[in-house]
Amino acid sequence: MKTQVLVLGGGPGGYSAAFRAADLGQEVILVERYPVLGGVCLNVGCIPSKTLLHAAQIINEAQEISSHGISFSDPKIDLKKLKKTKEKVSKQLNTGLAGLAQQRKVKVIHGTGNFTSATTIAITTDQGVEEIEFAQAIIAVGSQAVKIPSFPNDDPRLMDSTDALELADVPKKLLIIGGGIIGLEMATVYNALGSEISIVEMQNQIITGCDKDLVRPLMQKIKQQYSKVLLSTAVENIEALDEGLKVSFSGENADEIFNKVLVAVGRRPNGHLCAADQAGIKIDERGFIPVNSQQQTNVANIYAIGDVVGNPMLAHKAVHEGKIAAEVIAGHKSQWQALTIPSVAYTDPEVAWMGLTEIEAKAQGIEYDKGAFPWAASGRSLSIGRKEGITKILSEKETGKILGAGMTGTNAGELVAEAVLALEMGACVDDIALTVHAHPTLAETFAFAAEMIEGSITDLMPPKKR
Ligand code: NAD
Repeated sequence: MKTQVLVLGGGPGGYSAAFRAADLGQEVILVERYPVLGGVCLNVGCIPSKTLLHAAQIINEAQEISSHGISFSDPKIDLKKLKKTKEKVSKQLNTGLAGLAQQRKVKVIHGTGNFTSATTIAITTDQGVEEIEFAQAIIAVGSQAVKIPSFPNDDPRLMDSTDALELADVPKKLLIIGGGIIGLEMATVYNALGSEISIVEMQNQIITGCDKDLVRPLMQKIKQQYSKVLLSTAVENIEALDEGLKVSFSGENADEIFNKVLVAVGRRPNGHLCAADQAGIKIDERGFIPVNSQQQTNVANIYAIGDVVGNPMLAHKAVHEGKIAAEVIAGHKSQWQALTIPSVAYTDPEVAWMGLTEIEAKAQGIEYDKGAFPWAASGRSLSIGRKEGITKILSEKETGKILGAGMTGTNAGELVAEAVLALEMGACVDDIALTVHAHPTLAETFAFAAEMIEGSITDLMPPKKR
Protein backbone atom coordinates (compact mmCIF):
# COMPACT_ATOMS: atom_id res chain seq x y z
CA MET A 1 0.00 0.00 0.00
CA LYS A 2 1.06 3.58 -0.65
CA THR A 3 -0.24 6.86 0.71
CA GLN A 4 0.62 10.54 0.80
CA VAL A 5 0.08 10.90 4.55
CA LEU A 6 0.29 8.21 7.19
CA VAL A 7 -0.99 9.13 10.66
CA LEU A 8 0.04 6.78 13.45
CA GLY A 9 -2.38 6.92 16.38
CA GLY A 10 -6.10 7.67 16.37
CA GLY A 11 -6.50 9.77 19.52
CA PRO A 12 -7.77 13.38 19.41
CA GLY A 13 -4.43 14.59 17.98
CA GLY A 14 -4.14 11.81 15.41
CA TYR A 15 -7.69 11.86 14.07
CA SER A 16 -7.70 15.68 13.93
CA ALA A 17 -4.44 15.58 11.94
CA ALA A 18 -5.82 12.89 9.61
CA PHE A 19 -9.13 14.68 9.04
CA ARG A 20 -7.51 18.09 8.49
CA ALA A 21 -5.00 16.59 6.04
CA ALA A 22 -7.83 14.90 4.12
CA ASP A 23 -9.82 18.15 4.05
CA LEU A 24 -6.76 19.83 2.54
CA GLY A 25 -6.71 17.32 -0.31
CA GLN A 26 -4.24 14.73 0.97
CA GLU A 27 -4.66 10.99 0.62
CA VAL A 28 -4.56 9.72 4.21
CA ILE A 29 -4.21 6.41 6.05
CA LEU A 30 -4.89 6.51 9.80
CA VAL A 31 -3.46 3.61 11.83
CA GLU A 32 -4.88 2.83 15.27
CA ARG A 33 -3.97 -0.22 17.35
CA TYR A 34 -7.29 -0.41 19.22
CA PRO A 35 -10.56 -1.40 17.49
CA VAL A 36 -12.03 2.13 17.82
CA LEU A 37 -10.86 5.70 17.20
CA GLY A 38 -10.61 8.34 19.92
CA GLY A 39 -7.62 7.12 21.91
CA VAL A 40 -7.24 7.38 25.66
CA CYS A 41 -9.19 10.65 25.88
CA LEU A 42 -12.37 9.42 24.29
CA ASN A 43 -12.36 5.79 25.43
CA VAL A 44 -10.53 5.54 28.75
CA GLY A 45 -9.81 9.11 29.83
CA CYS A 46 -11.38 12.56 29.53
CA ILE A 47 -14.81 11.59 28.21
CA PRO A 48 -15.69 8.60 30.43
CA SER A 49 -14.34 10.44 33.45
CA LYS A 50 -16.59 13.41 32.66
CA THR A 51 -19.62 11.11 32.41
CA LEU A 52 -18.81 9.75 35.88
CA LEU A 53 -18.01 13.22 37.24
CA HIS A 54 -21.44 14.37 36.08
CA ALA A 55 -23.00 11.57 38.14
CA ALA A 56 -20.81 12.59 41.10
CA GLN A 57 -21.93 16.21 40.75
CA ILE A 58 -25.62 15.24 40.80
CA ILE A 59 -25.10 13.04 43.89
CA ASN A 60 -23.25 15.87 45.66
CA GLU A 61 -25.75 18.55 44.66
CA ALA A 62 -28.67 16.42 45.79
CA GLN A 63 -27.03 16.30 49.23
CA GLU A 64 -26.01 19.96 49.28
CA ILE A 65 -29.48 21.24 48.40
CA SER A 66 -30.58 20.21 51.88
CA SER A 67 -29.11 23.56 52.97
CA HIS A 68 -31.86 25.16 50.84
CA GLY A 69 -34.50 23.07 52.60
CA ILE A 70 -34.81 20.37 49.96
CA SER A 71 -33.99 16.84 51.05
CA PHE A 72 -33.69 13.69 48.98
CA SER A 73 -33.24 10.20 50.30
CA ASP A 74 -29.86 8.54 49.80
CA PRO A 75 -29.19 7.69 46.15
CA LYS A 76 -29.55 4.13 44.87
CA ILE A 77 -26.53 3.55 42.70
CA ASP A 78 -26.85 1.09 39.84
CA LEU A 79 -23.19 0.68 39.00
CA LYS A 80 -23.90 -1.44 35.92
CA LYS A 81 -26.17 1.18 34.43
CA LEU A 82 -23.73 3.99 35.19
CA LYS A 83 -21.01 1.98 33.49
CA LYS A 84 -23.25 1.35 30.49
CA THR A 85 -24.07 5.06 30.19
CA LYS A 86 -20.38 5.88 30.28
CA GLU A 87 -19.71 3.31 27.55
CA LYS A 88 -22.63 4.57 25.48
CA VAL A 89 -21.21 8.09 25.43
CA SER A 90 -17.80 6.87 24.27
CA LYS A 91 -19.41 4.60 21.68
CA GLN A 92 -21.53 7.41 20.29
CA LEU A 93 -18.40 9.51 19.85
CA ASN A 94 -16.16 6.83 18.37
CA THR A 95 -18.90 5.69 15.98
CA GLY A 96 -19.20 9.33 14.94
CA LEU A 97 -15.46 9.45 14.29
CA ALA A 98 -15.56 6.29 12.15
CA GLY A 99 -18.32 7.94 10.10
CA LEU A 100 -16.35 11.17 9.73
CA ALA A 101 -13.30 9.20 8.58
CA GLN A 102 -15.39 7.42 5.97
CA GLN A 103 -16.96 10.64 4.71
CA ARG A 104 -13.49 12.13 4.29
CA LYS A 105 -12.18 8.98 2.61
CA VAL A 106 -9.55 8.55 5.34
CA LYS A 107 -8.63 4.88 5.31
CA VAL A 108 -8.53 3.56 8.88
CA ILE A 109 -6.42 0.49 9.61
CA HIS A 110 -6.64 -1.12 13.03
CA GLY A 111 -3.19 -2.47 13.80
CA THR A 112 0.12 -1.66 15.46
CA GLY A 113 2.62 0.32 13.42
CA ASN A 114 6.40 0.06 13.58
CA PHE A 115 8.59 2.15 11.30
CA THR A 116 10.93 0.21 9.04
CA SER A 117 12.49 3.28 7.37
CA ALA A 118 11.81 7.01 6.91
CA THR A 119 9.22 6.20 4.23
CA THR A 120 7.85 2.80 5.27
CA ILE A 121 5.98 1.34 8.21
CA ALA A 122 4.94 -2.23 9.03
CA ILE A 123 1.41 -2.60 10.37
CA THR A 124 0.60 -5.74 12.35
CA THR A 125 -3.12 -6.53 12.18
CA ASP A 126 -5.22 -9.62 12.89
CA GLN A 127 -4.65 -10.61 9.28
CA GLY A 128 -0.87 -10.34 9.41
CA VAL A 129 1.77 -7.74 8.65
CA GLU A 130 1.39 -5.19 5.90
CA GLU A 131 3.94 -2.63 4.79
CA ILE A 132 2.81 0.87 3.85
CA GLU A 133 4.91 3.35 1.93
CA PHE A 134 4.24 6.98 2.76
CA ALA A 135 5.48 10.38 1.61
CA GLN A 136 4.85 12.04 4.97
CA ALA A 137 3.95 10.70 8.39
CA ILE A 138 2.52 12.16 11.58
CA ILE A 139 3.30 10.32 14.81
CA ALA A 140 0.53 10.69 17.39
CA VAL A 141 1.16 7.68 19.62
CA GLY A 142 0.36 9.36 22.93
CA SER A 143 1.40 8.27 26.40
CA GLN A 144 0.74 5.68 29.07
CA ALA A 145 0.33 5.67 32.84
CA VAL A 146 3.57 5.51 34.82
CA LYS A 147 3.89 2.26 36.79
CA ILE A 148 5.99 1.96 39.93
CA PRO A 149 7.97 -1.28 39.44
CA SER A 150 8.20 -2.20 43.12
CA PHE A 151 4.40 -2.24 43.53
CA PRO A 152 2.37 -5.47 43.03
CA ASN A 153 1.28 -4.36 39.56
CA ASP A 154 -0.36 -7.68 38.67
CA ASP A 155 -2.79 -7.45 41.57
CA PRO A 156 -6.17 -6.26 40.22
CA ARG A 157 -6.69 -4.24 43.41
CA LEU A 158 -3.86 -1.95 42.28
CA MET A 159 -5.40 0.23 39.59
CA ASP A 160 -4.32 2.75 36.99
CA SER A 161 -6.77 5.34 35.65
CA THR A 162 -8.12 2.94 32.99
CA ASP A 163 -8.91 0.34 35.66
CA ALA A 164 -10.48 2.95 37.91
CA LEU A 165 -12.74 4.11 35.08
CA GLU A 166 -13.87 0.50 34.60
CA LEU A 167 -15.87 0.95 37.80
CA ALA A 168 -15.64 -2.72 38.76
CA ASP A 169 -16.86 -1.91 42.28
CA VAL A 170 -16.92 0.84 44.88
CA PRO A 171 -14.09 -0.04 47.28
CA LYS A 172 -14.77 0.72 50.93
CA LYS A 173 -11.33 2.24 51.43
CA LEU A 174 -9.53 3.66 48.39
CA LEU A 175 -6.02 5.11 48.45
CA ILE A 176 -5.00 7.38 45.61
CA ILE A 177 -1.28 7.81 45.03
CA GLY A 178 -0.65 11.16 43.30
CA GLY A 179 -2.48 14.42 43.97
CA GLY A 180 -2.49 15.45 40.30
CA ILE A 181 -5.47 15.95 38.05
CA ILE A 182 -6.22 12.26 37.42
CA GLY A 183 -5.97 11.33 41.10
CA LEU A 184 -8.18 14.19 42.20
CA GLU A 185 -10.82 13.65 39.52
CA MET A 186 -11.09 9.95 40.32
CA ALA A 187 -11.24 10.83 44.03
CA THR A 188 -14.23 13.08 43.24
CA VAL A 189 -16.00 10.19 41.47
CA TYR A 190 -15.33 7.46 44.04
CA ASN A 191 -16.04 9.76 46.99
CA ALA A 192 -19.50 10.53 45.59
CA LEU A 193 -20.13 6.84 44.96
CA GLY A 194 -19.35 6.09 48.61
CA SER A 195 -15.66 5.16 48.97
CA GLU A 196 -13.63 6.43 51.89
CA ILE A 197 -10.79 8.27 50.13
CA SER A 198 -7.19 8.85 51.14
CA ILE A 199 -4.72 10.73 48.95
CA VAL A 200 -0.95 10.67 49.21
CA GLU A 201 1.14 13.22 47.31
CA MET A 202 4.92 13.44 47.25
CA GLN A 203 5.08 17.24 46.81
CA ASN A 204 3.93 19.79 49.40
CA GLN A 205 0.86 20.73 47.34
CA ILE A 206 -1.83 19.01 45.28
CA ILE A 207 -1.97 20.03 41.58
CA THR A 208 1.63 21.21 41.53
CA GLY A 209 2.24 23.96 38.99
CA CYS A 210 -1.03 25.68 39.84
CA ASP A 211 -0.92 28.65 42.25
CA LYS A 212 -1.61 27.81 45.90
CA ASP A 213 -4.45 30.34 46.28
CA LEU A 214 -6.34 28.66 43.43
CA VAL A 215 -5.80 25.19 44.86
CA ARG A 216 -6.71 26.21 48.43
CA PRO A 217 -10.54 26.04 48.14
CA LEU A 218 -10.29 22.50 46.72
CA MET A 219 -7.74 21.48 49.34
CA GLN A 220 -9.94 22.80 52.17
CA LYS A 221 -12.97 20.95 50.83
CA ILE A 222 -11.27 17.59 50.33
CA LYS A 223 -9.52 17.79 53.70
CA GLN A 224 -12.99 17.77 55.26
CA GLN A 225 -14.48 15.18 52.91
CA TYR A 226 -11.68 12.66 52.65
CA SER A 227 -10.22 10.43 55.29
CA LYS A 228 -6.65 11.69 54.71
CA VAL A 229 -4.79 14.03 52.38
CA LEU A 230 -1.10 13.41 53.02
CA LEU A 231 1.34 15.90 51.45
CA SER A 232 5.14 15.60 51.24
CA THR A 233 4.65 11.87 51.75
CA ALA A 234 5.78 8.92 49.68
CA VAL A 235 4.49 5.37 49.55
CA GLU A 236 7.39 3.15 50.51
CA ASN A 237 5.84 -0.25 50.02
CA ILE A 238 2.64 -2.02 49.08
CA GLU A 239 2.08 -5.57 50.24
CA ALA A 240 -0.73 -7.66 48.75
CA LEU A 241 -2.58 -9.41 51.58
CA ASP A 242 -5.81 -11.40 51.41
CA GLU A 243 -7.66 -8.69 53.33
CA GLY A 244 -6.37 -5.82 51.19
CA LEU A 245 -3.32 -3.89 50.09
CA LYS A 246 -1.12 -2.97 53.04
CA VAL A 247 0.55 0.38 52.36
CA SER A 248 3.58 1.81 54.16
CA PHE A 249 4.16 5.55 54.02
CA SER A 250 7.24 7.66 54.64
CA GLY A 251 7.38 9.70 57.85
CA GLU A 252 5.23 9.18 60.90
CA ASN A 253 2.21 7.68 59.19
CA ALA A 254 1.22 4.20 60.28
CA ASP A 255 0.78 1.36 57.78
CA GLU A 256 -2.79 1.04 56.57
CA ILE A 257 -4.81 -1.55 54.66
CA PHE A 258 -6.89 -0.39 51.69
CA ASN A 259 -9.36 -2.36 49.59
CA LYS A 260 -7.97 -0.77 46.44
CA VAL A 261 -5.17 1.61 45.44
CA LEU A 262 -5.14 3.89 42.40
CA VAL A 263 -1.72 4.88 41.10
CA ALA A 264 -1.94 8.26 39.32
CA VAL A 265 1.64 9.52 39.38
CA GLY A 266 1.83 10.86 35.85
CA ARG A 267 2.09 9.59 32.29
CA ARG A 268 5.07 8.84 30.11
CA PRO A 269 5.35 9.28 26.34
CA ASN A 270 5.12 6.29 23.98
CA GLY A 271 8.02 7.49 21.80
CA HIS A 272 9.92 4.23 22.12
CA LEU A 273 6.96 2.06 21.09
CA CYS A 274 6.80 2.57 17.31
CA ALA A 275 10.39 1.83 16.24
CA ALA A 276 10.85 5.51 15.42
CA ASP A 277 14.61 4.97 15.53
CA GLN A 278 14.31 2.79 12.40
CA ALA A 279 13.18 5.95 10.60
CA GLY A 280 16.11 7.87 12.07
CA ILE A 281 13.89 9.89 14.41
CA LYS A 282 15.52 11.28 17.54
CA ILE A 283 13.87 10.32 20.82
CA ASP A 284 15.04 11.85 24.07
CA GLU A 285 15.88 9.87 27.18
CA ARG A 286 12.37 10.31 28.58
CA GLY A 287 10.71 8.99 25.40
CA PHE A 288 9.63 12.36 23.97
CA ILE A 289 10.16 13.08 20.25
CA PRO A 290 11.58 16.62 19.82
CA VAL A 291 9.85 18.75 17.15
CA ASN A 292 10.11 22.31 15.80
CA SER A 293 7.29 24.88 15.81
CA GLN A 294 5.84 23.20 12.70
CA GLN A 295 5.75 19.81 14.50
CA GLN A 296 8.55 18.49 12.29
CA THR A 297 10.95 15.92 13.77
CA ASN A 298 14.62 15.75 12.82
CA VAL A 299 13.49 13.67 9.81
CA ALA A 300 12.00 16.23 7.41
CA ASN A 301 9.00 14.20 6.18
CA ILE A 302 7.97 12.94 9.62
CA TYR A 303 6.01 15.03 12.10
CA ALA A 304 4.98 14.31 15.69
CA ILE A 305 2.19 15.75 17.84
CA GLY A 306 0.45 15.42 21.20
CA ASP A 307 1.64 13.71 24.39
CA VAL A 308 4.63 12.17 22.61
CA VAL A 309 6.21 15.58 21.90
CA GLY A 310 6.04 16.98 25.41
CA ASN A 311 4.02 18.38 28.29
CA PRO A 312 1.35 19.33 29.00
CA MET A 313 -0.26 16.07 27.98
CA LEU A 314 -3.64 17.49 27.07
CA ALA A 315 -6.05 16.61 24.27
CA HIS A 316 -6.63 20.24 23.29
CA LYS A 317 -2.90 20.76 22.78
CA ALA A 318 -2.68 17.61 20.66
CA VAL A 319 -5.57 18.71 18.44
CA HIS A 320 -3.95 22.07 17.70
CA GLU A 321 -0.62 20.44 16.98
CA GLY A 322 -2.30 17.86 14.73
CA LYS A 323 -3.89 20.56 12.62
CA ILE A 324 -0.58 22.40 12.30
CA ALA A 325 1.22 19.25 11.10
CA ALA A 326 -1.53 18.54 8.54
CA GLU A 327 -1.47 22.11 7.28
CA VAL A 328 2.32 22.20 6.96
CA ILE A 329 2.19 18.93 5.00
CA ALA A 330 -0.43 20.48 2.70
CA GLY A 331 1.93 23.39 2.04
CA HIS A 332 0.48 25.98 4.43
CA LYS A 333 2.76 28.23 6.46
CA SER A 334 1.30 27.13 9.79
CA GLN A 335 3.19 26.99 13.04
CA TRP A 336 2.52 26.80 16.78
CA GLN A 337 1.73 30.32 17.98
CA ALA A 338 -0.74 29.79 20.79
CA LEU A 339 0.22 31.88 23.82
CA THR A 340 -1.15 29.48 26.39
CA ILE A 341 -2.76 26.07 26.87
CA PRO A 342 -5.41 26.16 29.60
CA SER A 343 -5.46 23.51 32.33
CA VAL A 344 -8.60 22.31 34.05
CA ALA A 345 -9.11 19.93 36.95
CA TYR A 346 -12.74 18.80 36.80
CA THR A 347 -12.89 18.34 40.53
CA ASP A 348 -15.43 19.76 42.95
CA PRO A 349 -14.78 22.69 42.99
CA GLU A 350 -13.18 22.84 39.54
CA VAL A 351 -9.77 24.47 39.21
CA ALA A 352 -8.78 26.17 35.94
CA TRP A 353 -5.86 28.36 35.01
CA MET A 354 -4.01 29.72 32.00
CA GLY A 355 -1.07 31.92 31.06
CA LEU A 356 1.48 33.00 33.63
CA THR A 357 1.14 31.69 37.17
CA GLU A 358 2.41 33.56 40.22
CA ILE A 359 4.89 30.73 40.75
CA GLU A 360 6.33 31.43 37.28
CA ALA A 361 6.15 35.24 37.62
CA LYS A 362 8.15 35.09 40.85
CA ALA A 363 10.70 32.64 39.41
CA GLN A 364 11.17 34.84 36.34
CA GLY A 365 11.20 38.15 38.27
CA ILE A 366 8.21 39.51 36.32
CA GLU A 367 6.47 42.46 37.99
CA TYR A 368 2.72 42.07 38.03
CA ASP A 369 -0.50 43.35 39.49
CA LYS A 370 -2.93 40.85 40.94
CA GLY A 371 -6.67 41.09 41.24
CA ALA A 372 -8.46 38.34 43.17
CA PHE A 373 -12.21 38.25 43.60
CA PRO A 374 -13.62 35.89 46.25
CA TRP A 375 -16.81 34.16 45.15
CA ALA A 376 -18.20 34.68 48.66
CA ALA A 377 -19.08 38.13 47.26
CA SER A 378 -20.75 36.70 44.14
CA GLY A 379 -24.54 36.60 44.33
CA ARG A 380 -24.64 33.82 41.77
CA SER A 381 -22.19 31.64 43.63
CA LEU A 382 -24.00 32.09 46.93
CA SER A 383 -27.34 31.33 45.30
CA ILE A 384 -26.03 27.94 44.19
CA GLY A 385 -24.88 27.31 47.73
CA ARG A 386 -21.15 27.73 47.10
CA LYS A 387 -18.94 30.41 48.57
CA GLU A 388 -15.46 28.93 48.32
CA GLY A 389 -14.49 30.04 44.80
CA ILE A 390 -11.97 32.60 43.64
CA THR A 391 -11.17 34.28 40.32
CA LYS A 392 -7.83 35.98 39.85
CA ILE A 393 -6.01 37.88 37.16
CA LEU A 394 -2.34 38.74 36.86
CA SER A 395 -1.52 41.73 34.66
CA GLU A 396 1.63 43.47 33.50
CA LYS A 397 2.49 46.29 35.89
CA GLU A 398 3.38 48.85 33.19
CA THR A 399 0.61 48.21 30.68
CA GLY A 400 -2.20 46.33 32.41
CA LYS A 401 -1.94 43.58 29.81
CA ILE A 402 -3.32 40.25 31.01
CA LEU A 403 -0.51 37.80 31.72
CA GLY A 404 -2.37 34.99 33.41
CA ALA A 405 -5.61 34.11 35.15
CA GLY A 406 -7.30 31.33 37.01
CA MET A 407 -10.49 30.45 38.75
CA THR A 408 -11.64 27.87 41.25
CA GLY A 409 -15.30 27.08 41.70
CA THR A 410 -18.33 25.62 39.97
CA ASN A 411 -17.87 25.65 36.18
CA ALA A 412 -14.36 27.13 36.38
CA GLY A 413 -13.43 24.93 33.42
CA GLU A 414 -15.92 26.81 31.26
CA LEU A 415 -15.01 30.24 32.63
CA VAL A 416 -11.32 29.97 31.79
CA ALA A 417 -12.15 30.23 28.05
CA GLU A 418 -12.74 33.97 28.38
CA ALA A 419 -9.35 34.41 30.03
CA VAL A 420 -7.62 32.48 27.25
CA LEU A 421 -9.29 34.65 24.60
CA ALA A 422 -8.35 37.80 26.54
CA LEU A 423 -4.71 36.72 26.61
CA GLU A 424 -4.66 35.74 22.93
CA MET A 425 -6.25 39.09 21.94
CA GLY A 426 -3.75 41.05 24.02
CA ALA A 427 -6.51 42.42 26.27
CA CYS A 428 -5.74 44.67 29.23
CA VAL A 429 -7.57 44.62 32.55
CA ASP A 430 -9.57 47.70 31.58
CA ASP A 431 -10.84 45.87 28.48
CA ILE A 432 -12.20 43.16 30.75
CA ALA A 433 -13.55 45.57 33.37
CA LEU A 434 -15.31 47.62 30.67
CA THR A 435 -16.82 44.56 28.98
CA VAL A 436 -20.39 44.25 30.19
CA HIS A 437 -20.81 40.83 31.75
CA ALA A 438 -24.31 39.50 32.40
CA HIS A 439 -25.45 39.64 36.02
CA PRO A 440 -25.77 37.46 37.98
CA THR A 441 -23.28 35.01 36.46
CA LEU A 442 -20.16 33.24 37.61
CA ALA A 443 -18.53 34.67 34.46
CA GLU A 444 -18.78 38.19 35.84
CA THR A 445 -16.25 37.26 38.52
CA PHE A 446 -13.63 37.63 35.76
CA ALA A 447 -14.64 41.27 35.30
CA PHE A 448 -14.71 41.74 39.09
CA ALA A 449 -11.13 40.44 39.32
CA ALA A 450 -10.17 43.00 36.65
CA GLU A 451 -11.97 45.71 38.66
CA MET A 452 -9.99 44.67 41.74
CA ILE A 453 -6.83 45.62 39.82
CA GLU A 454 -8.43 48.77 38.38
CA GLY A 455 -9.76 49.84 41.77
CA SER A 456 -13.24 50.28 40.23
CA ILE A 457 -14.87 47.37 42.08
CA THR A 458 -18.08 48.24 43.91
CA ASP A 459 -19.19 44.76 44.99
CA LEU A 460 -16.31 44.78 47.50
CA MET A 461 -14.09 47.48 48.94
CA PRO A 462 -11.38 48.34 46.38
CA PRO A 463 -7.99 47.05 47.48
CA LYS A 464 -5.59 49.70 48.77
CA LYS A 465 -3.14 50.86 46.07
CA ARG A 466 0.26 49.35 46.66
P1 NAD B 1 0.29 14.59 37.13
O1 NAD B 1 1.70 14.66 36.73
O2 NAD B 1 -0.61 15.70 36.83
O3 NAD B 1 0.18 14.32 38.70
C1 NAD B 1 0.87 13.27 39.33
C2 NAD B 1 1.12 13.64 40.76
O4 NAD B 1 1.67 12.51 41.40
C3 NAD B 1 2.11 14.78 40.94
O5 NAD B 1 1.56 15.74 41.79
C4 NAD B 1 3.33 14.10 41.54
O6 NAD B 1 4.02 14.94 42.44
C5 NAD B 1 2.71 12.93 42.26
N1 NAD B 1 3.61 11.79 42.44
C6 NAD B 1 4.51 11.29 41.56
N2 NAD B 1 5.10 10.19 42.08
C7 NAD B 1 4.55 10.00 43.30
C8 NAD B 1 4.72 9.02 44.31
N3 NAD B 1 5.58 8.01 44.15
N4 NAD B 1 4.00 9.13 45.44
C9 NAD B 1 3.11 10.14 45.60
N5 NAD B 1 2.90 11.08 44.67
C10 NAD B 1 3.60 11.01 43.53
O7 NAD B 1 -0.22 13.22 36.49
P2 NAD B 1 -1.66 12.58 36.41
O8 NAD B 1 -2.62 13.20 37.35
O9 NAD B 1 -1.39 11.11 36.49
O10 NAD B 1 -2.08 12.97 34.95
C11 NAD B 1 -1.32 12.55 33.83
C12 NAD B 1 -1.50 13.48 32.67
O11 NAD B 1 -2.82 13.44 32.17
C13 NAD B 1 -1.18 14.91 33.02
O12 NAD B 1 -0.40 15.45 31.99
C14 NAD B 1 -2.53 15.56 33.06
O13 NAD B 1 -2.45 16.91 32.70
C15 NAD B 1 -3.34 14.75 32.06
N6 NAD B 1 -4.74 14.77 32.42
C16 NAD B 1 -5.46 15.90 32.27
C17 NAD B 1 -6.76 15.95 32.66
C18 NAD B 1 -7.56 17.21 32.47
O14 NAD B 1 -7.14 18.05 31.70
N7 NAD B 1 -8.64 17.40 33.16
C19 NAD B 1 -7.36 14.86 33.23
C20 NAD B 1 -6.62 13.74 33.40
C21 NAD B 1 -5.30 13.71 33.00
